[in-house]
Amino acid sequence: MPQIQHIIDALERLAPPALQEDYDNSGLLVGEPHAEVDKVLVSLDVTEEVVEEAKACGVGLIVSHHPIVFRPMKRLTGRDQVERTVMAALRAGIGLYAIHTNLDNVAHGVNAMMCRKLGLEGMKVLRPAQGTLAKIVTFAPSAHADAVRQSMFNAGGGRIGRYDECSFSHEGQGTFRAGEGASPFVGRMGEQHREEETRIEMVAERWNVGRILAAMRAAHPYEEVAHDVVLLDNAHPTAGSGGVGTFAEPVGWEDFVARVKSAFGAPVIRHTNPPKSPIRKVALCGGTGSFLLSDAMRAGADVFLSSDFKYHEFFGTEGRITIADIGHAEAEGGISQWLVDQLANLKDGFPNFAVLLSEVRTNPIHVS
Ligand SMILES: [Zn+2]
Repeated sequence: MPQIQHIIDALERLAPPALQEDYDNSGLLVGEPHAEVDKVLVSLDVTEEVVEEAKACGVGLIVSHHPIVFRPMKRLTGRDQVERTVMAALRAGIGLYAIHTNLDNVAHGVNAMMCRKLGLEGMKVLRPAQGTLAKIVTFAPSAHADAVRQSMFNAGGGRIGRYDECSFSHEGQGTFRAGEGASPFVGRMGEQHREEETRIEMVAERWNVGRILAAMRAAHPYEEVAHDVVLLDNAHPTAGSGGVGTFAEPVGWEDFVARVKSAFGAPVIRHTNPPKSPIRKVALCGGTGSFLLSDAMRAGADVFLSSDFKYHEFFGTEGRITIADIGHAEAEGGISQWLVDQLANLKDGFPNFAVLLSEVRTNPIHVS
């Protein structure tokens, strides 16, 4: 039976916690990492009704997109929905885990799910993440370079967009002199040694640097491994906010509206003036997306599909783009099924493990 930590590891491989926004509170919110669970329930939100459903199904962990706890809690007295939900989960021994803006900010996450639903192709991140990349450089004796490089790849080094095992190598000569107490892999004590070495460099996500350095040391024969970690200013090609994709064939406005309503189960779309010509390029963002409007216009999108737009935010696009607000829960609803599918992979290691999709409607907004 998997422990909660196994499930967390699987979720964090999908969406590294380092990619969550500062205001967010993703991660394990209730429960002990080493508790064993054989059933998980996935839901967009956690409410008392969802905890009841989990209890009835014998579920040990609820995985939700939105965190139930956002602000620090000083007491738990059941005075509001958040406190009552947390207390119900504690009483039932059910863990709560949230995978929120970190899942918004990976290219294969919420925005990719929305692109798939609409039939958009070639998705790119709308506002790529900054400050997430580093370069690792090391110098290995040439005969060991392949092993060191491969070990670093295996730990996650050298991934760029849809490519992995990316690196650059250059042959050269290293020098060193072993001092008292050292036990050098090659060369004599107290004498300068020259060794044919390979300089290996590769890009790394900053949250993976520690793991990659450990793998580098494990495969490297030297007692002291010379290496540089350089923080990069480059944007991340597959992490960041929002997405933009294109239709293979342009779609007229009426057709687009029908597609959106059916794909997202959206009863209503609030929008600005429809575009004058058929729609080719669509920018989108699950959840509250108005902060990306200028990025959507810069990307040359015909429509920006998102939710939670305020009245004044609909102004000022001056015919350059059509804003389409489809509702928050409608935009993100499909992510629960995607998470169910991803977590089902855990069955390979734990045959009795089950993942359920919540049947509770948590969207508090009704349209009459
Ligand atoms: Zn959301």
